[in-house]
Amino acid sequence: MKFYDQSVPDVERCLDTNIHTGLDTTQVKQRQEKYGPNKLKEAKQKSSFARFVDQFKDPMIIILLIAAAISFGIAIFEKDPEGFFEPVLILVIVILNALMGVVQESKAEAALNALKQMTTPQARVIRNGKEEIVPSQDLVPGDIIKLEAGDFVPADARLFQSVSLKSEEAALTGESVPAEKDAGAIVKDGAPLGDRVDMVYSGCSITYGTGQAIVCAIGMDTEMGKIAGLLNSEEKSQTPLQLKLAQLGKYLGFLAIGCCAIIFVVGLLNGLPPMELFLTSVSLAVAAIPEGLPAIVTIVLSIGVTKLAKQNAIIRNLPAVETLGSASIICSDKTGTLTQNKMTLVKAWADGDEDVVDITTDDPKEIKRLLQLGTLCSDGSILIEDGQEKSVGDPTETSIVSAAMKNGMTKEALNQMYPRLAELPFDSDRKLMSTINKMDGQLVVITKGALDSMIPRLKSGDVKKAKELNEAMSKNALRVLAIASKPIDEVPKNPTSEQLENDLNLEGLVAMIDPARPEAKEAVKVCRKAGIRPVMITGDHVITASAIAKELGILRDGDKAITGVELDAMSDDELDHDIENISVYARVSPENKIRIVKGWQRKNQVVAMTGDGVNDAPALKAADIGCAMGITGTEVAKGAADMILTDDNFATIVFAVREGRGIFSNLKKVIGYLLGTNIGEVLVVFVSMLLWHKSPFVSMQLLWINLVTDSLPAIALGMEPVEKDVMNHKPKAKNEGIFANGFGARIILQGVMFGGLALLSFYLGQQLTHTERGAETMAFITLALSQVIQAFNMRSEHSLFKTGFFTNKKLNMAALVSFALVALVIFTPLNIPFNLEILPWGDFFIALGLAFVPFVVMECSKAFGLIKHSKSYDE
Ligand code: ATP
Repeated sequence: MKFYDQSVPDVERCLDTNIHTGLDTTQVKQRQEKYGPNKLKEAKQKSSFARFVDQFKDPMIIILLIAAAISFGIAIFEKDPEGFFEPVLILVIVILNALMGVVQESKAEAALNALKQMTTPQARVIRNGKEEIVPSQDLVPGDIIKLEAGDFVPADARLFQSVSLKSEEAALTGESVPAEKDAGAIVKDGAPLGDRVDMVYSGCSITYGTGQAIVCAIGMDTEMGKIAGLLNSEEKSQTPLQLKLAQLGKYLGFLAIGCCAIIFVVGLLNGLPPMELFLTSVSLAVAAIPEGLPAIVTIVLSIGVTKLAKQNAIIRNLPAVETLGSASIICSDKTGTLTQNKMTLVKAWADGDEDVVDITTDDPKEIKRLLQLGTLCSDGSILIEDGQEKSVGDPTETSIVSAAMKNGMTKEALNQMYPRLAELPFDSDRKLMSTINKMDGQLVVITKGALDSMIPRLKSGDVKKAKELNEAMSKNALRVLAIASKPIDEVPKNPTSEQLENDLNLEGLVAMIDPARPEAKEAVKVCRKAGIRPVMITGDHVITASAIAKELGILRDGDKAITGVELDAMSDDELDHDIENISVYARVSPENKIRIVKGWQRKNQVVAMTGDGVNDAPALKAADIGCAMGITGTEVAKGAADMILTDDNFATIVFAVREGRGIFSNLKKVIGYLLGTNIGEVLVVFVSMLLWHKSPFVSMQLLWINLVTDSLPAIALGMEPVEKDVMNHKPKAKNEGIFANGFGARIILQGVMFGGLALLSFYLGQQLTHTERGAETMAFITLALSQVIQAFNMRSEHSLFKTGFFTNKKLNMAALVSFALVALVIFTPLNIPFNLEILPWGDFFIALGLAFVPFVVMECSKAFGLIKHSKSYDE
């Protein structure tokens, strides 16, 4: 069905709707059942079974299974019932490991999906005669939608009203210049998509103006749906760290295979049974490769993003979590982010008057006129709900509407008396908004906006006085708006700024206060301590901005505050020279924001930047961490951002950086822990094969340690609470890898320590127990338990005496389970296939004592400063 060549009443009839009242609840329900949700089809989510099967696609696990199959075959061939134990147990261990993988992965995925849900776009509809905001996916054909700059068009829709409407349709038509839209245009049958100016299309964005439209097609029936086909929702973004780990895994794989080959050959030359050698080699390969690592990294990241979401920071792009930890510059908007965006009009000045006056409930006649004009030129409104005033819309505007109301002039009454015939919406480039109203038979243009943008467009008015007052009020952190007007003869068909916003007569100034957020001051302090530089970037006046920046501690003695115009006049070299001194950028345009981001990036800084408007999208993309406002932000800004602040709060960014640092440090702990233990295992087997031509561990033992007892402590380690002093350090350098600052060397040394201790235990076992099995049991206890204890060592770079031994409850539980699992294979009949035995208590304690050596060594290293925690900023 085509709608672009039909008249609006025809479309209404055809879709059984009404452009004034929209659909009613029953119609919506019926249509939702008939047409389904308004979304593009996504590839099906993987079932748990498919996930389980996936776990067996790991080449190492496949080799292990082949090994088990061979040993199974041999057992059948040799008719040896005991021979079945090993392959069956390998199978049990592998299945256990896979099950754990499925559970953890599903949890991680559920967390990430929940996050996706939180960021689904919303649409403004008229239903049952009232405006509501609903998730875009609930729209049905026939719904009446309202659109404004910054919205994504939620469905294909036929416009029936448009004001200076422009839509960017590059995704559909390839045309990057926004297309002008006109609800009244007559479009002929057969017109190509790009010429259908009375239609807006799903997935495109509104870049300018406002409009209303009737939804004609949803979901896969939209033009976008037709070309999108099956969208693969599984597109997973891997973080740089995940990619690096995948690479590391490959290298370790090759290394392990090399080691195995050597062990195999040495073993064969020394007459060891080939089957046991084969199994040991395979299990060593499994031990050497940290199979669980990628999954654990995903789990830690997903736990982190869930926590962030609870604290009002929704991560849209997973790699941003890692980048957050290195953020060194936070460029923040002022209004609403550093301030409360609770504007109250407190002062006004009418052109011709001597001085400003305070706003009361009965202001002089001239001030009342000013408020009247300001209200007529505003979209924000005040509703009375249960006797309470409720502001709807832009707080700058509602503060004017509210002041007019206090003076007995409601917006509804004014709009009725002086109807609006046309408008030029506000945008942060012009910093102006204009309407044409019919006032007492005369057409009048009313313009309100920043005084500096207004001055070049004025024909009359006491500009000198206005400037003086503007400056004086701005110094007191007030936001000042100028209001001007002019009579015109007719309403232009397509009003432009050049036509309306010229030759204006100044009517006066209004000034409003927007108090700083109390938590912002503290957050700025935390930033400074954490080596992060806060920078204010605002559309507001430089003096107002500076006053607030000073109050918050962003602008300090010696720092500069400059305007967008001054920034434009600077060359890149000049900017590079001065950027470190500039703390406030005022009256900026969205293009300025990109320059500021790039300027800091040239200094190797990691920049977080906030944005809300449709024009902020490029700056949000250019920043290392683009943060969109959840409340005041447009859908386009949200779509371009890495993170959405659901409370629009600066303090939330600082919190997110803290969490980001915590997540990175936890990942480091897990990686260090798992790699250290792997290195230890490989070393023991490799060295003892070379020295004594036998391994202290049979394959089952290695598998048990690596796939079973190690996994839980690793996950628990990843859940370690963020360390208290994490914001007392400098941010890590931009490309600083996880193994930087000696961390890699430390892991290797720790691995050597584990290996050495297990070998020592094996050696002592041979001397004390005089049996192979006893010696193996001692080595097994030392290796398995030293690794569980190592999880505690890795918790912090501070001493455990300072951190507290048992403060990570999950790790305590994990450690208990791991201890129990070690005991299980020693004290139950399982000890037969595991080749372990119950030892005399003395030997037991020796093995246990050796397992505690890493704790003593690590504590001493921490005490003597061999393990340095990241440098404090003040050091
Ligand atoms: P931020 O600090 O988040 O950049 P801002 O509100 O100061 O926000 P803009 O919204 O771009 O920045 O506003 C810039 C200037 O435009 C304001 O200082 C004010 O003078 C003017 N202005 C803001 N809102 C309106 C409006 N609704 N109508 C007319 N002028 C406005």
